[in-house]
Amino acid sequence: MPEVKEFQAETKELLNLMVNSIYTHKDIFLRELISNASDALDKIRFLSLKDPTILQNDSELQIRIEIDKDNGTLIVQDNGVGMSYEEVVENLGTIAKSGTKNFLKQLKEAESENAVINLIGQFGVGFYSVFMVSDKVTVETKKWNEENGVKWESDGSGTYSIQKCEKGKRGTKIILKLKETLEEDENYLDQYKIQELVKKYSNYVKYPIKMKWEEEVEKGKIKVTDKTLNSMVPLWNKGKEEITQKEYNEFYKENFYDWNDPFDIIHFKAEGTTVQFTALLYIPSRMPLTFFSKDHKKGLNLYSKNVFIMENCEELLPDYFGFVKGLVDSPDFSLNISREILQKNNQLKIIRKNIERKIIDTLKSRLENEKEKYEEFWKEFGKVIKAGLYQNIQDKEKIQDLLLFESSLSEDHMTTLKEYLSRMKENQERYIFYAVGRNRKAIENLPQMESFKEKGYEVLYLTDEIDEFLIKLLHDYQGKEFKPISSSEIKIDNTLKEKEEESKDLLIKIKEHLKDKVKDVRLTDKLKDSPVCIVSANEAVSLNMEKTLKNLEQLPFEAEKILELNPNHQIFKILQEIYNKDPDSEELREYSEILYNQSLLLEGLEIEDKSELAKQITNLMLKANK
Ligand code: ADP
Ligand code: MG
Repeated sequence: MPEVKEFQAETKELLNLMVNSIYTHKDIFLRELISNASDALDKIRFLSLKDPTILQNDSELQIRIEIDKDNGTLIVQDNGVGMSYEEVVENLGTIAKSGTKNFLKQLKEAESENAVINLIGQFGVGFYSVFMVSDKVTVETKKWNEENGVKWESDGSGTYSIQKCEKGKRGTKIILKLKETLEEDENYLDQYKIQELVKKYSNYVKYPIKMKWEEEVEKGKIKVTDKTLNSMVPLWNKGKEEITQKEYNEFYKENFYDWNDPFDIIHFKAEGTTVQFTALLYIPSRMPLTFFSKDHKKGLNLYSKNVFIMENCEELLPDYFGFVKGLVDSPDFSLNISREILQKNNQLKIIRKNIERKIIDTLKSRLENEKEKYEEFWKEFGKVIKAGLYQNIQDKEKIQDLLLFESSLSEDHMTTLKEYLSRMKENQERYIFYAVGRNRKAIENLPQMESFKEKGYEVLYLTDEIDEFLIKLLHDYQGKEFKPISSSEIKIDNTLKEKEEESKDLLIKIKEHLKDKVKDVRLTDKLKDSPVCIVSANEAVSLNMEKTLKNLEQLPFEAEKILELNPNHQIFKILQEIYNKDPDSEELREYSEILYNQSLLLEGLEIEDKSELAKQITNLMLKANK
């Protein structure tokens, strides 16, 4: 005779919640059952290590799913350890897990659906999730070393019945009488739906999950075969030396939607005291087309003991490595853990730190040993690293040595900051020089580059829009400050002050002529072949940054400009002569404006009055040919 027992009070409350659940992720019940079956198989396999005869008559460890459309039942069974009578009462009648009381207290106080999902995520409800989809659940189980089986049955309300029963084979069979109120997309009697769920959540469970599969071979003729639904091999659990490069690559392409082999693979296990996990990470070789679109989801997939928990877990990756793909498997996470809970999870933070360090080490070693390959990688993902570092400048020390820049040194190779430092000239004590422009050519045409080239100073070329913003935030590298080549703080010619004193009146006059356009007119020692250049009066906002910010509509004001003249240029001497003859000469006004416009052109800036400039040039040509 079956014995009828009441569920423990807390269990009742929990069941009540599950049955009337506002929790919408019903699909997960199957994952929970398969994960329990897999645990039970692990246990029997472990026992059989000592005593192989345990498996004698039933040696193929497996999970079977059966669909019984006539009765509206779904059956999940395993040949694992099984449970004794007492164990059934203990495991399926109470919530023995610690913190349950606390869980229920919080559950009662939870106000929204999200809050409930969070709590379920935090504590896990495992087996009881079957009552979200079933009117009645029957468990038949036989412990491996017992004579008799046990039958447990409940509709998930207040009580369950339990009795001894006949059961030939070791293991557990769970029979779900499915609710009739399930939605159309919750048809758990459909073999395709079951296959989909197994592939999604349980694909890497290491035991075969089998099912009778119906296939129409001819019209009206159905063939039934035994089908294994999961691919089983959780590649990440194998040792590195057991896995071929090809296997790693295939796994990547199949799971992460890329046609290209990855640039690098990072596979490691951490067996610390606070957290245990395995990570299999891939650095892609190509940027996905969707990377900068809304569709792109950053993050690693999260597993617990080969069972899938969630995809794109963002918290596992820092922004600057947002392009990394892969997965983390850790037994320390509950299957139901929610994203909200994860964000606060300490173990997750430790895992993330470990992952970050491994990625940095891997990239550094590539950079040191295979610079050319690293440059290819950088061309694809350098932007992401730079943008990520810009957002997380507190990580400067960790990331700055991964940065590459173009420089005046070589057209063919980029440079690290470390390499730049090693090549600095003896008298280049304080600054790392940089120049900003659309591309290499535009920078090399900048008038200020002339003297740097002549003196042999290396200049970093910042060609990405983000570069200058990042450099400003970085401020310095190993104590050497980043300085734009236009900076007045860089002194190349010591006699500049004297020259400026000599031509003071001329400079004041030119400034008068350009009074709406520039804040100041001064001499510069950065020019060699060009007569003029234009710089920003405020080093914090260069003229190039101004262009970018204006495009983003983030700059309400215009940067003030300074016109710089080359005192050694023939043009300067002509200006001086004109001034000496007649300080108020109209010609001087015209020349000042032409020179100003010319400097805008060279800097790649917009000419304010184009027709005026055209007129001036025409006049000049007419005069020259009089
Ligand atoms: P958890 O798996 O987190 O322990 P569950 O609610 O999923 O929690 O399961 C409760 C317990 O019931 C398990 O710990 C296990 O002892 C037992 N159990 C559940 N399913 C099986 C099974 N198929 N075979 C053996 N024991 C099981
Ligand atoms: Mg479980």
